[in-house]
Amino acid sequence: MLVALAALPLAALGCRHLAAVPALDPARLEETVGSAFNRGSPWQEGLPERHVVQAGQLVIHADFGLAEQHRLIRDLETLRTEVSQDLGLPISDEPVHLYLFSDTSRYDTFAARYFPNFPVRRAFFVETDTTLAVFAPWQDRIAEDLRHETTHGYVHAVVPTVPLWLDEGIAEHFELPRGSDGIHPQHVAHLGGRFLEGTWRLDLARLESLASAGEMSQDHYAESWAWVQWLLHTTPQRRRILQDYLADLRRDGRSAPLSARLAYYEGPATTWTASLTAHVEELGQRAASASAAE
Ligand SMILES: [Zn+2]
Repeated sequence: MLVALAALPLAALGCRHLAAVPALDPARLEETVGSAFNRGSPWQEGLPERHVVQAGQLVIHADFGLAEQHRLIRDLETLRTEVSQDLGLPISDEPVHLYLFSDTSRYDTFAARYFPNFPVRRAFFVETDTTLAVFAPWQDRIAEDLRHETTHGYVHAVVPTVPLWLDEGIAEHFELPRGSDGIHPQHVAHLGGRFLEGTWRLDLARLESLASAGEMSQDHYAESWAWVQWLLHTTPQRRRILQDYLADLRRDGRSAPLSARLAYYEGPATTWTASLTAHVEELGQRAASASAAE
């Protein structure tokens, strides 16, 4: 029942705010997730179901009235096209269920009941072999959280085996509003600070070796984002390298790591790592001059 989940549990579950959490044991995770999805249908007590809105691939369940044309829903529908076009992925019809709770206390109660071993976080995405589902409470940062988690859903609907770092890097990239080129001010500032301190060195192979979301720190999230932003927005060749990598993962679930492809097309790791470092520094300088001009 939970084969897909057991095989790749944390790739599907890792999201921000997991930094300080120890790696979850896959068996316990399966047990936990199973408690929410294995007892018949996912329609469990405590899940929002008063209002259901279908929006393209999304099935939105809310325990409050949500106008079908709500701007946020339209934005999530558009996100599907953005993700597909930028990553060169086909569009799937596999439903992605969004469970939206009217407030954080209802969400917390639900999460504690069905996912007791999960760390508390603002929203999360779960993939089983039959369900793609996002859970989130309605709060100030709902738009960003839903873009992040829904991106996981859109990607997993067509590429079930995305490496953890790339899964999060992609979601961090697409959580930004449309038209921002995926530039994430907090990650730019974070990495810039780390570079100045000399306390972080970019290393794609190290990211590729991460096996569980519990190992991912804020540094890893920021770096994962940076690689994706650089791949998608610097040269057509780099965008193509990422697209080809995802296409291969989609086809057979395994492929030589992205770092091997970059080494083939772009030379030694030191060269393209230096290119990313310079790119992040440039984004930081751009942000600094934009705020100075205000
Ligand atoms: Zn995530």
